[in-house]
Amino acid sequence: MLDFNLAGTSLKTDISKVFDLAVIGAGPAGLTAALYSGRYRLKTLLIEKKLVCGGQLATINSLENYPGFSEPVSGGRIAREMERQVIKSDVQILTAQVNNVDFSGEIKEIATSKGLIKAKALVISAGATPRMLGVAGEKENIGKGVSYCATCDGHLYIDKTIAVVGGGNTALEETITLTKYAKKIFLIHRRGEFRADKILQEKVRAIPKIEFILDTAVEGIDFSSENGKNVLINTKGKKRNLEVDGIFIFVGILPNSEIFEGSLKLKDGFIVTDEEMKTNIEGIFAAGDIRLKSLRQITTAVSDGAVAAFSAKNYLTEKNL
Ligand SMILES: Cc1cc2nc3c(=O)[nH]c(=O)nc-3n(C[C@H](O)[C@H](O)[C@H](O)COP(=O)(O)OP(=O)(O)OC[C@H]3O[C@@H](n4cnc5c(N)ncnc54)[C@H](O)[C@@H]3O)c2cc1C
Repeated sequence: MLDFNLAGTSLKTDISKVFDLAVIGAGPAGLTAALYSGRYRLKTLLIEKKLVCGGQLATINSLENYPGFSEPVSGGRIAREMERQVIKSDVQILTAQVNNVDFSGEIKEIATSKGLIKAKALVISAGATPRMLGVAGEKENIGKGVSYCATCDGHLYIDKTIAVVGGGNTALEETITLTKYAKKIFLIHRRGEFRADKILQEKVRAIPKIEFILDTAVEGIDFSSENGKNVLINTKGKKRNLEVDGIFIFVGILPNSEIFEGSLKLKDGFIVTDEEMKTNIEGIFAAGDIRLKSLRQITTAVSDGAVAAFSAKNYLTEKNL
């Protein structure tokens, strides 16, 4: 038996048994997969490396696009409710980091910081993290003017001035989305040319409210109230402040998939699945931001989680496991 803490409660779980389903990562995708799995009465273990469940959801101060909440709600509140619901459906939660996996046998082996877990099927929902610029003032202003998601935060900038950083397809697509809200957009890119497809570049160049600031690095973000909101930029050695209401950063997204390299099919680090969340290995499913897909949101994470648990249940039934 192993002791562990969960949201202030001390619980015990026996990790020596073989679980029907193990779920890696307790963000919205993993919490939903575990909820559905528990309700299918599968012996389910949810493994989360952090002491608090919820993943990125738990970090959102004000969530406005999750259906069912007409007023802004904290992501932490929804995460706590999801966790309670999961516990009520007889799922065990283990606070441990997954360090390695072995998918060679019918029983999958998962090496964690708290010991070896065995399961007949597995849902991987370890999420992804937006790549940060790593400049002063960025981290402390996330949710207070610094954003990595136009779909999530665009509406906060109706008729406002914003900066967008990035030069790839995502950056330019998100800039076009943001033109629906902002009155003025500074598009900042560290090189003289964009990496994005030519056709996308042409579309962006045709929008008058977008001003291009090329060959330019962002060196700092100062959103302290006395000085207004400023982004410090450096164009070939010439530094200046850009006054904005917010900044959107699209310089990449990093899937938490290193431990699956070599054992699963990945594309740009994201796990490739079909519509049923099946990976290229039988009995292994993936859900949420770690999966190769076009829209990374809470709604799509919970949808993936439900489908993954459904597919895992069908796999166990078909295989008589
Ligand atoms: C600041 C911010 C604001 C956002 N705003 C919105 C919004 O307004 N609306 C919206 O819909 N979406 C928003 N998103 C995006 C949304 O939060 C994500 O799309 C969603 O959380 C993805 O869920 P997930 O379960 O796939 O992954 P995650 O939420 O990333 O959860 C993955 C979990 O896996 C755990 N994990 C990772 N590796 C391991 C390991 N090796 N062992 C054990 N555990 C592991 C992590 O600790 C984490 O808890 C926002 C994201 C951020 C960062």
